[in-house]
Parts: sequence; structure tokens; C-alpha cells
Amino acid sequence: MYYKSTRDADVKVSSAQAIAQGISKDGGLFVPSEIPSVSFDELKAMGSMSYRERAKLVFAKFLTDFTEAEISHCVDNAYTTKAFDSDDIAQLNKLFDGGFMLELWHGPTCAFKDMALQILPYLLTTSTRKLNSDKKVVILVATSGDTGKAALEGFKDVEGTSILVFYPADGVSAMQKKQMTTQEGNNVGVCAIDGNFDDAQNGVKAIFTSEEIARKLEANGMMFSSANSINWGRLAPQIIYYVSSYAQLVADGEIELGDKINIVVPTGNFGNILAGYYAKHMGVPVNKLICASNANNVLTDFLKTGIYDKNRDFHTTISPSMDILISSNLERLLYILSDENTELVNDWFGKLAKDGKYEVTEDVKQKLFEEFSAGFCNDTQTKSTIKEIYDKYGYVCDTHTAVAVKVYLDYKASTGDDTKTIIASTASPYKFSGSVLSALGKNTESSEFELVDKLHELSGLPVPSSLAQLKDKEVRFKDVIEKASMADYVYSVLGI
Ligand SMILES: *Cc1c(COP(=O)(O)O)cnc(C)c1O
Repeated sequence: MYYKSTRDADVKVSSAQAIAQGISKDGGLFVPSEIPSVSFDELKAMGSMSYRERAKLVFAKFLTDFTEAEISHCVDNAYTTKAFDSDDIAQLNKLFDGGFMLELWHGPTCAFKDMALQILPYLLTTSTRKLNSDKKVVILVATSGDTGKAALEGFKDVEGTSILVFYPADGVSAMQKKQMTTQEGNNVGVCAIDGNFDDAQNGVKAIFTSEEIARKLEANGMMFSSANSINWGRLAPQIIYYVSSYAQLVADGEIELGDKINIVVPTGNFGNILAGYYAKHMGVPVNKLICASNANNVLTDFLKTGIYDKNRDFHTTISPSMDILISSNLERLLYILSDENTELVNDWFGKLAKDGKYEVTEDVKQKLFEEFSAGFCNDTQTKSTIKEIYDKYGYVCDTHTAVAVKVYLDYKASTGDDTKTIIASTASPYKFSGSVLSALGKNTESSEFELVDKLHELSGLPVPSSLAQLKDKEVRFKDVIEKASMADYVYSVLGI
């Protein structure tokens, strides 16, 4: 297996190259040349394996240029009980009959991004070693809140790397900001930009693909890579928990091997749900992939009409990690659904850059409608869902997960589909204590950490120690820059 670019049919690289580079030089994303399969026998066998063993099995199918020892090194160092608060790593929690919360936030930064970003530094340093590169890897990140912290935590003090995170000044929660601006480590940098997430992501993409900047880095013995989900090294680890959950449901007797499940994902950049798509096409029996959005509902419209139109108001919501109008990973899906037609992909994404809008072909539309269902909800509905789930089941979910629950309940009501369903639960409610408490009808006029205590009293959920410790940490990073000066900022931080 090798990796191709969504925008240039002539590109052919190893997985190590794809991971080290992050994005293809033509601006396209790397995709595997084929989707490997997982057999029913393997799914059955996985039932009695640890998460780490399941991960090794799946990685071996995608990272065919890695040795078994290299994969083990990465997996065994990343998915530890030191980093995650349970050896399950990804926990399945039955919420109601037929509905399972896949809790992906038991890692060090309390959001699902840890599932990939705890292992990415190992995948990346292994990749550069395999490529015999002694260049320093500079990781640039654009974050809507959770990726930034998870990437900082993953890459802090990793030898041969340095990491710089850009976040929208007014687009992250108080806890997310505190998590990032207090980050420890000798190779880390954090900077706010005067703009939204799309501005940050566009800025980072432009820096990545600038030949002039690449030359300057090269001359200084450095190279860029990405920790955003444009990097295949972010996507691959996310496929694992869907495969793993299916195996778990079979092992637990919740479903029979071969039964289909639905997967619901609160979506922003389309990375997490795309991982579900890969799991499905590896052979995990999946009925519908249900894409849940907040008021930034560009994907809902797209998955219902085949027209992507980002010319609309940007909403700052209580689920900030989904406040996105340009979902990068859609490019991978459209490449696959157009039968790897790089011309069409170039045409669509050219139009997106120029007019903010494109329409896919009839053939692609049919496939989209068949595979996906989509819905969205606003903040009021998100809050009432948090309350409803708490009142009914005593379960507190965060604002992003609540969007998925709401969209799923709507889907179920309108279709009558009672297929067993996995709902991706993407963050600990403690990251959004203010919004969650306000949804539960509580007074939120207190400091962030008093709110955490309050939520603890109410929910009984243990407060993750990584969040509790933030209270006394000193803020290290205070810079706010204009979005036009991101490249200069990178130069100044790197001293080149
Ligand atoms: C990043 C994030 C999402 C969106 O995931 P994508 O892969 O970008 O679609 C949803 N919820 C939370 C809590 C997140 O951090």
C-alpha cells in the first residue's frame, strides 16, 4: 500500500512520508491507495484483545512500511494507563437500549483529540527516522480549541520537534484557553489570532504550501509537519476506536457478528466521521454514518443537497470545536466518492477557495445520500438535550456530544430506524462547565474552577486531575496577532 494525493494523480509516497510531510505539496491530502479490509474472524478475535492489541492489528493494515516493532513501539508508548484514566482507552457506555456513548475523552486533555495526538508524535518521529531525516520537525497547528492542547501535550519536549499553536482569540472556551496558555515544555508556542478557526486553518495551510517558507526552513535544517487532521497520522488512529467498539459490542453480546450499527459523530473538520467511513469500508458493518453539526450547518446542507456553500454567517456557539465552515477532511471523502478523480477534486476545491461554493456530480450525490445522514441543532436545543439526558439517565454530556445526541434522537424519530447506535462522545463536560451548568439550570456566575467544583457536586463524575491542576498554573503565552502576520510570527518564534 502507498499514499496518494487528492489533487495530483502522480504523487505516490509511503505512509512514513505522508505522516512526516502532513500535506501534499500540491495542497492535496494524503489518502491510502486502497482501503484494507478487516474480516469477521478478526473482529471476533479482537473481542478478547486489549485496546493496544486492536490498535496494532489495524495500524499494520495501513502503515505497511512500518515494522511490527515500530508499530508496537508507537502503540505501547501512547495508549498507557498513565495517559488515559482507564485501560479501555476508549470506553463504551450504554446510555439507553440500543444507544452507546463512545467516550473518547479519557486521555490527558479530556477531548477525543488525545486518541490520535497521544500517538502522533511517536508515529511522526518513527517516520522521520525511517526516512533518515535529521531535520527538526516544526509542527504548526490551527485549533478550534481541543486540537491545540492535545497536540501540545503530545509533542511537549519530544526531541527533534517544536510545536506552535494558533487559536482564534475569541473562539475557545475559558478552560480550553487556560489549558493552552499555561502549557509547559521547552519546545512549545501558543498564539491567539484575531480571526476565527477558518482563518487560523487557512493561514496554517498557506504557510505549509508556501515554497518560499519551505526553502527558508530547509536552509535552517527544519521542515514543517501538521498535527491537524489533514495529517494521515491523525486519521488512522481514529479508525481504530470504531473497529474496536464494534468488536466490543459483539464480545459483550450486545450485537451479533454481522449486525449493522449506526455511528453518530459531532462534526467539525470531518475527521472523526471520516474515520468512521474508513472503518465501515474496511468491513465493519455500518448502516448510516450520521453527521451532527451545530448552527454552523454547512455540512448538513451539503450532505442533503450535494452543494457546499460556506457563504453564510459564522456562528460562535457553545460547541466551539465544531465552529467550522471549511471542513478539510471532506476532500478525502470526495476524492474516494469521485473514484479518485483529482481533476474534479481540484475543480471543487478551487471553486471553494474562489467562490466559497461548489456542487458535486449526481453520481457523488447519490453515494453521499446513501452513506450519510445529517442534522444540526442550535445552542438552545443543545442545552435542552443536556438537561433531558441528565434528567432521564443521570448522565452529563458535554456540549459537543449533546449536539450528536440531539441529531440522533431527531434521526430516530423521523426514520424509525432502531439499529443499535454508537454516539461519539468527544469531550469531558468539565471542559465546558459553564455551558453545561447553565443547561442544567444552574447559576454560572463564578470562576471557571468554582464551576468545575459545582459540576462535580452535581454529577459525581471525578474531576480529571489535568484540569484541576490548571487552577494554579501560570499563564505563559499572551500574544495576540493579526491573521495576516502568522508567517512572520512563525519566523520570529523559530528565530529564522
Ligand atoms: C474536534 C472536535 C470535534 C469535531 O471533530 P472533527 O474531527 O473536527 O469533525 C467535536 N467535538 C470535540 C469536543 C472536538 O474537540
